[in-house]
Amino acid sequence: MYAEWQHLASISHVVIAVALDGTLLPFAPTPEEARIDGDTATLLEQLAALPGVTVGVISGRPRALMEELPGRFPAIVFAAEHGVWRHADGMWNAVLAPVPQLDEIEHALTALAARHVGALVERKSCSVCLHWRRVDAEHHDEIALAAEVLIDEWLETQRQLERLPEAEAIEVRHTAAHKGGALSWLRSRAPSGATVLAIGDDISDEDMFVSMREGDIGILVADHTRRTQAGLRLPSPAAVHRFLRWLIDARLQHPVSAPADVVIARAPRPPTEARLIVVSNRLPAAPSGDRKREVGGLVSALLPALAETNGLWLGWSGAERDPGLRLRIEDSEAFTRAQFDYPPTWRERFYSGFCNQSLWPLLHAFPGRVRYVDDEWTCYVEANHAYAQLVLEAGGPNAEVWIQDFHLMLAARDLRRLGHRGRLGFFLHVPFPPLDVFETMPWAAEVMAALLEHDRIGLQAHRWADNFYATARGLFGADGERRARERVRVIPVGIDPDRFADAALRTASADLGSVERMLGGRKLILGVDRLDYSKGIPERLESFARLLEKYPEWRNQVSLIQVSVPTRSEVPEYAELRSRVEALVGRINGAYGEADWVPVRYLYRSYDQETLAHLYREAAVGVVTPLRDGMNLVAKEFVASQAEDDPGVLVLSKFCGAAERMTLAVLTNPYHVDGVAADLDTALRMSREDRVARHAALRTTVWQDTANAWSRAFLEELRG
Ligand code: UDP
Repeated sequence: MYAEWQHLASISHVVIAVALDGTLLPFAPTPEEARIDGDTATLLEQLAALPGVTVGVISGRPRALMEELPGRFPAIVFAAEHGVWRHADGMWNAVLAPVPQLDEIEHALTALAARHVGALVERKSCSVCLHWRRVDAEHHDEIALAAEVLIDEWLETQRQLERLPEAEAIEVRHTAAHKGGALSWLRSRAPSGATVLAIGDDISDEDMFVSMREGDIGILVADHTRRTQAGLRLPSPAAVHRFLRWLIDARLQHPVSAPADVVIARAPRPPTEARLIVVSNRLPAAPSGDRKREVGGLVSALLPALAETNGLWLGWSGAERDPGLRLRIEDSEAFTRAQFDYPPTWRERFYSGFCNQSLWPLLHAFPGRVRYVDDEWTCYVEANHAYAQLVLEAGGPNAEVWIQDFHLMLAARDLRRLGHRGRLGFFLHVPFPPLDVFETMPWAAEVMAALLEHDRIGLQAHRWADNFYATARGLFGADGERRARERVRVIPVGIDPDRFADAALRTASADLGSVERMLGGRKLILGVDRLDYSKGIPERLESFARLLEKYPEWRNQVSLIQVSVPTRSEVPEYAELRSRVEALVGRINGAYGEADWVPVRYLYRSYDQETLAHLYREAAVGVVTPLRDGMNLVAKEFVASQAEDDPGVLVLSKFCGAAERMTLAVLTNPYHVDGVAADLDTALRMSREDRVARHAALRTTVWQDTANAWSRAFLEELRG
């Protein structure tokens, strides 16, 4: 049978991009020991001498270890350090400036390597790599996990750097230091229309495979199947040699039989089979090996629906690439993931810009914080259009599409224009503002018209639905309102309450022992939020101070723990908020603290949900006082974690979606400092009888409005 790669023998020009270690050369314990032997050298020379062939060796090695190669193989171009250094026409060029901040992580990894015999750290200009090939196999997991944790913590504070797992190694590198860029450069050196043949063995070689175009051929070198973007697989470097020798003979028109070891690397999976496509700006994190990772509420809510319909979830990978936007469809344990990388400008203009600095404050009705920048809007339009194209590519025109949240309010319009025929649903997880606020957006009518292209629109609360109807009427008259009412359903998002109830019962972690000691029998008031201005954290701190001022009997009897999860630190207003909150905490502790009592414990970090469940259960009062919030899941998690016979009290803002159905919480107005202080006092004094009765009612709601009930109800409405 004639295989698709056999035309490499006859097409006019082939660009061969080949990795070195593990592809052309078998792995040696260190790169220094892996030398290009006589056979390999002859093979490379013969390839490069073929008419209609351009050869590039694209390696992850440091440039120093490739220095002699261009002299030895003048007809071949070389890329070192994943393409940061490129050699052609007699000289080396670096395409990126060195990254000095890598010194820090290099020191940390060197300290880790020092504890494991055989581990070594390799520093390149734009990356640092920790290798453990020579470490005892039984310690591989331990060093891998330690390195991963170390790197992830450090990356929290870094931009434009990313972690890359490799074969028995882990690398931190500049996001632009990847082999995909080197492949484009190599392609640009050949006549246009040339076909690329990319051969590589490592995760870093996937960047080459991702950058390939229609008709190009990718070969993964591996002795077993694994997830890859390459279409073909060869089992070993020896098989690569046989394949390349076949190519030489075939292009020289010597009679030769095709090598037997080429196998198809991935099972063909017609993407049009997918029935349900969930689309969100960002794809949820993939489960990483057997290491324990959180699965968010939204993910577990959608899993059953995705499984039933052989569905897929499409979104941004979290990485950036130039040009990006190439769809990678991968089956994970839980669901099929369709991901792509952002092109270079999107993070700043689309995500951080229009989404987080225009739409977020607009939809939360903080017009004073909104700013509109034409370039960012243009990028929003472009991004929504690209998402629509990718959805069509992944699912075909008949798929049922469920778009999540405000990042993608225009995608339905583009899908329809591109010929999509299947049902289109949209769920807005954040509030919807009143007409006169929404209208401050110069493109208000365009956005509303695009939203009305959906067959079904889900909102969290009637409060937001009323604003939506009034806005549709204001923009498009009675007909607009009618179309809005036909489409909108109020379906509140929930949690998996059993998970919190069970976790709260399990033994508390070491972290919490210290909380108990710190409280020393005092009552706990607990706040848990992302550090976002919509959450009303400064207002809450002021209210707590007012409680201590107006009800002095609570001094030294109660402590507030405020967990604030870092978020959007690239937006200046969030950095300002952090300073403001820290100053307030200092002021309150200075004014009221005593030698044995700290009134406010402020924790700028995040906890896993098991730890949160314990914290919730410890608390006498859960204080959830956003100035505005689409739903607020913390309120529900707090209720689910309480002991039924002695529950804490929920003090809940009137202005969040959750308040609409949790009416037996102590409902409060977060803008009214004296009022919140009085409500905290009421909550702290509430009798057990009253607490049990209120909690029982709240519990019923939380167990009714679960995450699963939400996705089932929406999909029924979408199909109905
Ligand atoms: N959360 C967490 N760790 C933390 C603090 C919060 O996992 O340290 C989770 C919390 O359990 C909840 C989510 O973050 O599920 C916050 O959701 P919510 O609806 O309250 O607010 P959002 O952040 O979505 O605006």
